[in-house]
Amino acid sequence: MIRETALGATVAILVVLLWQGVNVGPLLFLVAMFAFLSYLMQSRSGGTTVNFTMVDRENNCETVIFESIGGQETAKKELLEALDFVRFPERVAKMGIRPLKGILLVGPPGTGKTLLAKAAAAYTDSVFLAASGSEFIELYAGVGAQRIRQLFSRAKTAAEKERKNSAIIFIDEIEILGGKRGTHTSHHEYDQTLNQLLVEMDGMATDDRIRTLLIGATNRADLLDSALLRPGRFDRIVQVDLPDLAARREILQLHVSNKPLAPDVDLEKVARETFGFSGAHLESVANEAAILAMREGAEKITQRHFTDAVDKVIMGEKLERKPDKEELWRVAVHEIGHAIASECQRPGSVSTVTTTSRGKALGYMRQSPEKDSYLYTQKYLEGQIAIMVAGAAAEEAVLGDRSTGAINDYRQAVKAAKQIIAAGMSRLGVISPEDVPTEAMHAEIQRIIAAEQEKVRTFFSNCDDLIRELAEILVHEEKISGDLIRRRLEEEKILVA
Ligand code: ATP
Repeated sequence: MIRETALGATVAILVVLLWQGVNVGPLLFLVAMFAFLSYLMQSRSGGTTVNFTMVDRENNCETVIFESIGGQETAKKELLEALDFVRFPERVAKMGIRPLKGILLVGPPGTGKTLLAKAAAAYTDSVFLAASGSEFIELYAGVGAQRIRQLFSRAKTAAEKERKNSAIIFIDEIEILGGKRGTHTSHHEYDQTLNQLLVEMDGMATDDRIRTLLIGATNRADLLDSALLRPGRFDRIVQVDLPDLAARREILQLHVSNKPLAPDVDLEKVARETFGFSGAHLESVANEAAILAMREGAEKITQRHFTDAVDKVIMGEKLERKPDKEELWRVAVHEIGHAIASECQRPGSVSTVTTTSRGKALGYMRQSPEKDSYLYTQKYLEGQIAIMVAGAAAEEAVLGDRSTGAINDYRQAVKAAKQIIAAGMSRLGVISPEDVPTEAMHAEIQRIIAAEQEKVRTFFSNCDDLIRELAEILVHEEKISGDLIRRRLEEEKILVA
């Protein structure tokens, strides 16, 4: 930026001097000499400087090994297999195998892609250079390409300096620089940067004294240019998924290993309640639980701290916002409505119900899934719709009208209804949702939701006293467990124990 401003100012001065009849020849010569010298100095130092993160394995606390990454067994296995190409180059050369140039890690944020790349560097005893795709994108044509050249040459220099035989370059958010060519508004710069990356990858060879391996990470592999994905570039595509139950337990175990836990802590239960959490979320749960314990002056972290930490990670920090008595009563009735419907659909599904304000919510009911589910039946989705509309239905049954507190519930209900339709489980039959007229789609969504609403209303008209009783306890206690609701439903013979 400074360079461009100085260049602009020099040109302006020269034009003014020329306009006033001054002989600018000698001055022009001096400027040319200065520009030439500064170009020489820059090319010797490797071009535009950029702060790539270089992790020194020996001295840096960031050293990561595969054992310190929880779950991700498939990803680790595939990665380890690929890394053996870097570890045993003689074997690879003997078999006439072309060198592995790139590995692409694909998965949602926070699933451990950076950790896997760092562990790969430790496993292969390589130097590790990390950069993010956004660091290569500049307004000025050529700068990104220059930075790519610089990154690859720095990797070699660093490996030589540390007397290592290999270097791992990690580019996070690679879709920013490796997006499909011709799709950006300032194509020229983007295309030049990507072309340079392809050139560098093509230039890698097994007989290079320092072997370089590029590890890219993205959560949008669909945006990548096909040239990057063709064989000979990113040869291996490794899926890094959200952790399943066993992996969540393992990740939690890793993150509590340095924390004092009370005997009541049940990590299996925490893992069960955190379906859909990434490794980063789980690390945050362990950390938040410790912070909550410290705030209370407790010596050890208890199960309650973990439950609160999960709520915090899902919904955000507790807010001081206190609704007035009337509103608080409505919130309690609404949440109890959700909880009763949830228990009736799937006994044991409610973890806690609370009127604590967090994020945008004035209260919430948290479910604890029995097992990880990746497929949903029509019955399950209809049950979810019933649970969603039950908050407003409880308000109607006890208070006579509904409130805006149900807006988000209806959004979720519409989403579930759309899933039913898209999966061909509605009266519209198997359809392509895009080709169905909006009115027909709208009518079917309304029909599905109205049917569930009717069932819940009928059910609540016979148990409004129980809603009142549980809502009163909730207003008083601020938080109640699913067990209490279940017990009362069993006592009322609404649920069979
Ligand atoms: P992004 O796509 O947002 O860059 P990422 O997939 O690269 O995310 P990491 O940066 O590797 O995720 O992980 C972030 C943090 O989450 C780690 O520092 C670690 O604390 C925790 N974490 C994520 N996955 C795991 C795991 N499998 N085991 C242990 N910790 C994990």
